[in-house]
Amino acid sequence: MSTTDCIFCKIVAGEIPSTTVVETENVIAFRDIAPKAPVHVLVASKQHVPNVAAAAREIPEVLAEMAQVAQQIADAECDGEYRLIFNTGPAAGQTVFHVHGHVMNGGALGWDA
Ligand code: C5P
Repeated sequence: MSTTDCIFCKIVAGEIPSTTVVETENVIAFRDIAPKAPVHVLVASKQHVPNVAAAAREIPEVLAEMAQVAQQIADAECDGEYRLIFNTGPAAGQTVFHVHGHVMNGGALGWDA
């Protein structure tokens, strides 16, 4: 299932460009267009679900594969050490409501107060 107004569904469909890093039957990983770390890759399900809790409920096997793909990317790009961040809700910074994890390499966590 996809939604016509979802930007990540358009990336999955190849309707807007992205730099793909890994693609499987169920998962796509691509470089964030506005990277916040030297390694910043987004790992998304191809199926549209709005957030990580919905993915855990509706497509748990795909969520598990997303974690495996994240590790694969980190192994290739940052010695296997990384963060995997799922922003959930606008107040937490979620801007695209199609589940995706941010794979980012290290450095101190911080925020703008
Ligand atoms: O967690 P959040 O929903 O804010 O993450 C969305 C991310 O998608 C942002 O980091 C943004 O830079 C990225 N993005 C992208 N390519 C697009 C649109 C958004 O990489 N075409």
